[in-house]
Amino acid sequence: MNAEIVAVGSELLTPFRQDTNSLYLTEKLNQLGVEVIFKTIVGDNPDQVIAAARLALMRADIVIFSGGLGPTEDDLTREAVAGALGLKLHRDAEVAASIEQRFAEHGWKMSPNNAKQADVVTGAAVLKNANGTAPGQWISGKYEGRERIIILLPGPPNELKGVFDPQCMERLRAKLPSLFIATRTLKIAGLGESQCDARIAPIYKSHPEVQTTILAGAGEIQLHLRSRASAMAEAGANLDRVVTEIEEELGDFVFSDNGDSLEQIVGCFLQMRNASVAVAESCTGGLLAERITSVSGNSRYFAGGVVAYSNGLKTAFADVPVKLLEKHGAVSSEVAVALADGIRKRCGSTWGLGITGVAGPTGGTAEKPVGLVFHALASEQGTEVIERRFAGDRQRIRWFASQQALDMLRRKLM
Ligand code: ATP
Ligand code: MG
Repeated sequence: MNAEIVAVGSELLTPFRQDTNSLYLTEKLNQLGVEVIFKTIVGDNPDQVIAAARLALMRADIVIFSGGLGPTEDDLTREAVAGALGLKLHRDAEVAASIEQRFAEHGWKMSPNNAKQADVVTGAAVLKNANGTAPGQWISGKYEGRERIIILLPGPPNELKGVFDPQCMERLRAKLPSLFIATRTLKIAGLGESQCDARIAPIYKSHPEVQTTILAGAGEIQLHLRSRASAMAEAGANLDRVVTEIEEELGDFVFSDNGDSLEQIVGCFLQMRNASVAVAESCTGGLLAERITSVSGNSRYFAGGVVAYSNGLKTAFADVPVKLLEKHGAVSSEVAVALADGIRKRCGSTWGLGITGVAGPTGGTAEKPVGLVFHALASEQGTEVIERRFAGDRQRIRWFASQQALDMLRRKLM
C-alpha cells in the first residue's frame, strides 16, 4: 500500500512555517512498510482542499490530512473531506461533551464556534486528542470503487503525534500485509556526483529490489538505499548484496556505511592506530579543529593546533620559516607543508595537517585565485600536499577545504 499526505494550512505556503508533520508521518509510515508517493500542501481554501482531497483519493491507498480541524472559519478539512467523499457530517454528542468538559476543566469560556470541532464524517471512528480539543478521524471506505483509508489529524505537531502514534499505528498495521523496510546510507568523499553515478548506476539498475537515491552536497555524496521485503532479514540481505557491489566498485571512496561523518571516521581510525593529529589552519579559521572536536572522546587523538592567520603567527606557532613565506607567499604548497610539519613537531603528534588558501570573495589574484587551497599532511615518513580549486562562496570553500584535509588523513589511516 502507498500513501499521500495532505498538509492543510495557508501558513505552510508562506516562508515562515514549514510542514514538519509530513516528515514525522513519512517516517512512521515507512516503519510500517508504506511508501509515501505524494505530498500536497494546500491553503485554507474550501475548493482547493476539496480538489487536493479528490486527487489524493484517486492516487493513494492511504490519505492522511494534517491540520484544518480547529474551530475557526478557515478550518475546513472535515467539510472538504466529507464533500470529496460525498458523505455528510454529523455533530457527535460524545465528542461535543468531551470538548465542553475540557473547557470546563481548564476554567475556559467556550465560544460557540468550538462546537464545530465535534463534527464527524458519517461512519468515521473518532481518534481522541489528549493534547487539544479537535479529535482526529479515521474513515475507511471506497472512493471510485477502490478501498481507501482516510485519516484526519490535528495540525499542531504535538497533537498530531499524540493522536497518530497510539491510535493509528496499530490500526494501520492490522490492515497491511507485513512488510519490512531496511535502510542504509553510504557516504562517499573525493568523487563527483556524475562520476559516482556513472560507476554505480549499472549496479543499482540491476537490483530493482533496492531503491537508491543519490544526494550530493557539502563535499560528499550520500547514497540512501532502501529495500522492502516480507521479512527484515530478507530486506537486510537485499541491501547487503548491493552495498557489497558498490563498495567493490568505489573502493576507498566510500568512507561510511552507517551514517558516520568524516570526522567520526577519522577519529575512529586514529584511535585504532593509537595515533594523534594536530592542525595548523589559515583560511579555515579553526573549522577543521571544530569538526574534529565535535566528536566526543577526541581528546584521545586530537593534540590541538593553531589558527595561524598572520604570517607572524605561522612562524611563531608552527615554525614556518620567514624566508619561505617571503619567497612563495602564505598561500603556497610550500607553506602548507611547513604548517603541517611545524605543527606536528610542535605538538608531538603522529600526524600534522596544514591548510592555507584563498576563501574569498576578496583577496584573489590571477596567480592565486579565490578557491585555491593547499592541504598538507605530515608524518615522520614525510609530508604530502594536495592543491585544489574549489568553487563557491566563502563558507563553501572553507567547508570543502576541511573536508579535503580530513579525507587525506582518512585515506592514510585506512
Ligand atoms: P487548531 O486550529 O485547533 O490549533 P488545526 O488542526 O486546525 O488545529 P492548524 O490551525 O492548521 O491546526 O495549525 C495549528 C498549528 O499547527 C499552527 O501553528 C501551524 O503552524 C501548526 N501546523 C499545522 N500544520 C503543520 C504541519 N504540516 N507541520 C508543522 N506544523 C503545522
Ligand atoms: Mg490551519
